[in-house]
Amino acid sequence: MSASRCSAKLSKSKPASVNASEASFASLLTKIQYLDRSGIETVRQAYRWADELHLGQLRNSGEPYITHPLTVTALCADWKLDAQALCAALLHDALEDCGIAKRDIIERFGSTVADLVDGLTKLEKLPVTSREENQAESFRKMLLAMASDVRVILIKLADRTHNMRTLGETPPSKWARIAGETQEIYAPIAHRLGLNQTYRELQDLSFKYLRPWRYQTLTQATAKARARARDLVQRGQKDLEAAFTKAKLPCTISGREKTLFSIYRKMRTKHVNFSDINDLFGFRIVVGSLSECYTALGVLHQLYKPVPGRFKDHIAIPKANGYQSLHTTLIGPSGVTVEFQIRTEPMHWIAESGVAAHWLYKAQTGHNIGAQWLQSLVDIQNETVDASEFWDHVRVDLFPDAVYVFTPKNKIMALPRGATVVDFAYAVHSTIGDRCMSARVNGELAPLRTGLKNGDRIEVITAPVSQPNPAWLSFVRTGRARSKIRHYMKTQAQSQSLAMGQKLLAQALRSEGYDQIPPQDTASQAIWDKALRFTGNKSVEELIIDLGLGKRVASVVAKRLARLLAEFGLAPNPLLLSSALLMNGESTSSNQIIVDGSESASMTISSCCHPIPGDDIVGYLGHGEGLVIHSTSCSVATRLVRKDADRMMAAVWSDDIERSFIVPIQIDAADGHGVLAQITSALAAADANIVHIDMAQEPTTGIADLRLRIAVQTADHLAQVLASLARVKPVLNVKRA
Ligand code: MN
Repeated sequence: MSASRCSAKLSKSKPASVNASEASFASLLTKIQYLDRSGIETVRQAYRWADELHLGQLRNSGEPYITHPLTVTALCADWKLDAQALCAALLHDALEDCGIAKRDIIERFGSTVADLVDGLTKLEKLPVTSREENQAESFRKMLLAMASDVRVILIKLADRTHNMRTLGETPPSKWARIAGETQEIYAPIAHRLGLNQTYRELQDLSFKYLRPWRYQTLTQATAKARARARDLVQRGQKDLEAAFTKAKLPCTISGREKTLFSIYRKMRTKHVNFSDINDLFGFRIVVGSLSECYTALGVLHQLYKPVPGRFKDHIAIPKANGYQSLHTTLIGPSGVTVEFQIRTEPMHWIAESGVAAHWLYKAQTGHNIGAQWLQSLVDIQNETVDASEFWDHVRVDLFPDAVYVFTPKNKIMALPRGATVVDFAYAVHSTIGDRCMSARVNGELAPLRTGLKNGDRIEVITAPVSQPNPAWLSFVRTGRARSKIRHYMKTQAQSQSLAMGQKLLAQALRSEGYDQIPPQDTASQAIWDKALRFTGNKSVEELIIDLGLGKRVASVVAKRLARLLAEFGLAPNPLLLSSALLMNGESTSSNQIIVDGSESASMTISSCCHPIPGDDIVGYLGHGEGLVIHSTSCSVATRLVRKDADRMMAAVWSDDIERSFIVPIQIDAADGHGVLAQITSALAAADANIVHIDMAQEPTTGIADLRLRIAVQTADHLAQVLASLARVKPVLNVKRA
């Protein structure tokens, strides 16, 4: 790893002679040693043929044309793409410019290479403009090309990168169009695919040609800032190296710089001056394993003081395009704040090369992270859309595992393979999903469970009376649809509230000497009419739901009903009355609410005291929030008992609960390096998942104060977890918070 990825290098276009020498087959040869012998030989043949085909053609710079495919191929070789992709990269302009046919390529290199070149040629012919309708069309075709083989778009991005690097050699009249296209189409694609290094370069180069004056001023300003910071950065690097050597933690430390375009964007969006931007420089630390990331964090926090609130764990919670790293900001030498990124090598590959890291990783280790990467893309798709993103309707779920379909307005939607009409409906909008009834797929009526195919045009038919059906859960593929359906059912929990209300009212009526709720028949009509007049409800059902949701107190309604029943000649049962008296104040099984952990509109687990199975609990019938389960020792609950005893209900845990519960814990530890790693591995061994970590350090004592939220099964499980944490050497004190 080197520090050479900073943006400043990109801004200087190289003299033609340097390009020519870099773009020789010999230099490509040194880059493709990861291929096997026959692979290298195939690439050599492709080079010879391409050289022959392009003979006599020149680039705008005056160089032989072959320098272009050679450089594009070298970029692909940096991603460790396979021999087929490299052959296609060498031949990518041959179909278009040299009068050969697709079958000529098939004959020499087989149909895969020919398909790749063909795909690239078709992309090249796409009229890419910024006009809305054509943009959608260009993107549609580009996505379909990618869906068939993502290598096409990787080669295309390499092609575009070289063309942008050499844009200065083309006539200035072309700059705005090509740079605009790059900024609007290619850079976002690179970003979506997680090819961050390419994304940054394309952004900076478009910026350079779209806003030359701004670009130049910023180049000068950063050059000055860089010169001023040189000593500081060197000293920082030395301090870091010493600290990590002392900690016996092997790592690669490199400096990094914000790109000009991101500085420009920050100045514009935050309305600040260049001098206000204080995160121009930073460091990246690459370590050997995931747990060493946390160890490295400890080393850093010992070396420099962290800025509170700036620690971000993108390892536990990766960013939308799969990015993983720990971020922290420290107060470095001379009081300058410096941002650090800590990651492992595979994380680094994904951070820089995104989708291409799949080949990179395979070439280096023989392992395949394709599946993992795909999974992360599928997961992203299920998350909420960041509306500020440029192509927010296009999700990056590429590869053959995705299908691309169209809305009636020609908007493209990417869905995982196997997705159905219902997934599509929810991807368009949740109200479309909630109301969907059937659909027209390519103009023909189709049922909701119909699986989608690439290129389908789908029109969802909705009806105001339609509502989500739990049976849909058996065929939907996306998490979005799944969670929306569940959400709907949860909010439509009237039946649950009704059941709860009935239970509460029946219970309260027993205390009044009546063993059942008056039926809703003509005989009881007058009683209910009067009761409803008293409560102001429109219907008996509404009244009972109100009871279930805690909007009304059951005992009050029961007292009124009892009086009405007595007025209508129905005397209370004295037996019930006496037993009610006996039971008064005691929790008998008939009076207890059984808590099985499933939460709904009518029952939730309190987030103030986080009760877990094994804790003594009590239910509080909140005003409109249904029954809230508190721990009996909870201070909130104790206060409620005093104030609002009427609304408290005895509650017990069910014997078979399958879910886990979140519980906050607090740890004091001597802040040696590796504390965090030891704690996390102790938790993993005790089978407790970490949901959240917060860490602060007491500056005078050096004692670290960690606050975690972990998921455990029961109070016994928690006790075991706490015991095993207490055995971790640097841990001084551990307790449930
Ligand atoms: Mn080209």
